[in-house]
Amino acid sequence: MYGEIIASGTELLMGEIQDTNSSWLAARLPEFGIEVRKVTLIGDDPELYEEVLKRSWENNSYTFTTGGLGPTKDDVTREVVASVLGEKTYVDSAQLDHLKNIFIARGNEMPETNIKQAWLIPSAKAIPNRMGTAPGWWVRKDKRVIVALPGPPREIQGMWSEQVSKLLLETKEGNVIMTKTLKTIGLSEGAVDEMASPVLAIDNPYVGIYAKPDGIHIRIISRATNQNSANRMLEEVDRQLMSIFKDYVWGTDEETAEESVGRLLNDLGLTLATMESCTGGLLADSITNVSGSSKYYKGGVVSYTNDAKIASGVPTDLISKYGAISQEVAKAMAEAIRLTLNADIGVGITGVAGPNPMEGKAPGTVYIGISKQTSNESYYHRFPSSSRSLVKNRATVMALLQLRDTIHRK
Ligand code: AMP
Ligand code: MG
Repeated sequence: MYGEIIASGTELLMGEIQDTNSSWLAARLPEFGIEVRKVTLIGDDPELYEEVLKRSWENNSYTFTTGGLGPTKDDVTREVVASVLGEKTYVDSAQLDHLKNIFIARGNEMPETNIKQAWLIPSAKAIPNRMGTAPGWWVRKDKRVIVALPGPPREIQGMWSEQVSKLLLETKEGNVIMTKTLKTIGLSEGAVDEMASPVLAIDNPYVGIYAKPDGIHIRIISRATNQNSANRMLEEVDRQLMSIFKDYVWGTDEETAEESVGRLLNDLGLTLATMESCTGGLLADSITNVSGSSKYYKGGVVSYTNDAKIASGVPTDLISKYGAISQEVAKAMAEAIRLTLNADIGVGITGVAGPNPMEGKAPGTVYIGISKQTSNESYYHRFPSSSRSLVKNRATVMALLQLRDTIHRK
């Protein structure tokens, strides 16, 4: 079954807001057997919206729209859907009561303009929205579906798990597509390709290999007429791949390097401290993006200049002898912060974010130090140096994965 996504909102075309809803939705549709063929981005322009929606309605079993469900004049999704389907809007009394109650609970009276958020058409039912005032529309007619969702990502995501995914399961026909991604580190794309060759020859499940900033990803895509068989086929290939790559897989699907490390530290009851130079605090930022990180992360410092490194416990003579960008200083940074914060493990990062070389080292050169009670280690990397933020990102992910590897080897 084919699907199309239409994201509306003039702010998206002005480059003020990035359209994250489309990719978020696109990632969730294959498991319902919906193959997305097109994503369209349009402004709050009713004529163009109507043209695009009409074509999508004619060509697809499912159309998903995001945005345009607010109370103002430029929020036109309801009008456009009604017009394409040739139906008249009416005020639904249950929706209106619900809306008025939301405003009463906030201590306000409902403005007249919000009445349109209580509109429905005969083919539509309201999709409740716990996070906002705009309900979505589930429109079903002639075996085709339009799902109209609001713009704010939080609202869509809430409505998806509570309502939309269930409605989609009820209407699902034909093939189901299941996917799983294994994230590896430590192997080149070519090596992964060669090692995976026994499963690459299979058509279904299909196995694809992709190079990403956090390593090589292996994606399994299985198709079947129902979820159980798709799942069984996927699990079989997953087992085969895991037997080949078990030493290299650090996470699956949406899992990030910081979550993977966090889980490991938590399970083993170990604590962590960091000292960063070229990443400027990005490592600490990533680690603390994980909820519950206070259980294992003691804290860190950004020691950007040599003075700051010395003040944070890095021996002066090491810096004069080897330079601040060196294996020795990376190790010393890791050890100093481990001892200062009394942590089980310390991580130090020093390198050249670019664009100019430093201490005769090329941009993209990064040393990662890892200090444990029993040993200090350091690793050298040379990342592509097209931008400072890219080098900082790669260094951060690599430090996390190296840390994970070190803990694993224990
Ligand atoms: P709307 O439902 O059109 O009033 O959108 C409300 C808000 O949701 C906008 O101001 C944006 O901040 C956000 N938003 C709308 N469309 C998108 C989108 N496609 N991706 C991410 N955020 C969006
Ligand atoms: Mg809008």
